Amino acid sequence: MSMKFDIQPASNPTSEKDRIAKLVDPGFGRVFTDHMAIVRYNQAKSGWYEARIEARANFQLDPAGAVLHYAQEIFEGLKAYKRDDGGVNLFRPDANARRFKDSADRMAMAQLPEDVFIEAVEQVVRIDRAWMPGGEGSLYLRPFMIASETFLGVKPSSEYIFAVIASPVGSYFKGGPAPVSIWVSENYTRAAIGGTGAVKCGGNYAASLRAQAEAIQHGCDQVVFLDAVERRYIEELGGMNIFFVFDDGSLSTPPLGTILPGITRDSIITLARDAGKTVREEPYSLEQWRKDAASGKLKEAFACGTAAVISPIGKVRSVSGDFEISGGAAGPVAMGLRKQLVDIQYGRTNDPHNWIRKVF
Ligand SMILES: *Cc1c(COP(=O)(O)O)cnc(C)c1O
Repeated sequence: MSMKFDIQPASNPTSEKDRIAKLVDPGFGRVFTDHMAIVRYNQAKSGWYEARIEARANFQLDPAGAVLHYAQEIFEGLKAYKRDDGGVNLFRPDANARRFKDSADRMAMAQLPEDVFIEAVEQVVRIDRAWMPGGEGSLYLRPFMIASETFLGVKPSSEYIFAVIASPVGSYFKGGPAPVSIWVSENYTRAAIGGTGAVKCGGNYAASLRAQAEAIQHGCDQVVFLDAVERRYIEELGGMNIFFVFDDGSLSTPPLGTILPGITRDSIITLARDAGKTVREEPYSLEQWRKDAASGKLKEAFACGTAAVISPIGKVRSVSGDFEISGGAAGPVAMGLRKQLVDIQYGRTNDPHNWIRKVF
């Protein structure tokens, strides 16, 4: 299915002077562009209708709107990257579109056709092209969908709003990625078998915030969760997947199931295997992690996701004690994979898996 977007440019967009000022140091997720994409869904109107690109504005939502009560909400996160020739790349937007459909399915929401998802993202990039930061910055795109039916009964909503907003972001790490410290959450879990851990719903984040606050209280940057059954195996961070690098050159990462199937995770597995490395998708326990860090068998650990690409993990803290990884410094495997991925995203190297989709 394809939909024609009705394009209505903002009548009062940000002035060039203000835009340039906002792009100097945008940080993450605080500066927004002038437009958004909207597509509405109504079961009674036989599905998706009214696809629009319009000025970014508040939503009209009844106080009894379903999302406000029962959290029927999903989202995605991807970036547009400016190439040296002035063009703009998206990285694997088809994978985001597919995952968004899977998330909708799990949350009993209407499934947006993948080509409409991609078209909405591309239209926002096109109309707000002037907001693309240069250098190592990018335009972060946030597609999301909310249940908008006015009804307090507990059931899947019959109405939805899909939207895409855009936020220029600076380089996540100025002067190269600094290793992060992580706190192992032994009180809270993130996801159980049969739950929603594998889909990108806002509720997962709501449930992770208390654990993240605990991490901050313990002087750590991020939280890492253990499996909900045995409370032994490493799952992932609040919003990033995790990899381990061993002294024989192999890598391991927790298997899919309850974790979020990250597109960065999948890309790293592919790039590492392309380079002839062994990558295992298998459970890895906190005890083993501690032992391997102490014996030197474990050389590096890193977290990965669209926002930060790859963050080396320098230090792990838990109620059962702390340990360091690669002397608390960024390791060469993490940094090599990071450069390879970023070079593909910005179009500085060839793209053997056809991951790039050029918007311009
Ligand atoms: C989005 C997300 C990730 C990373 O996914 P990417 O597709 O690589 O950005 C990892 N874990 C969680 C919980 C997430 O929500």
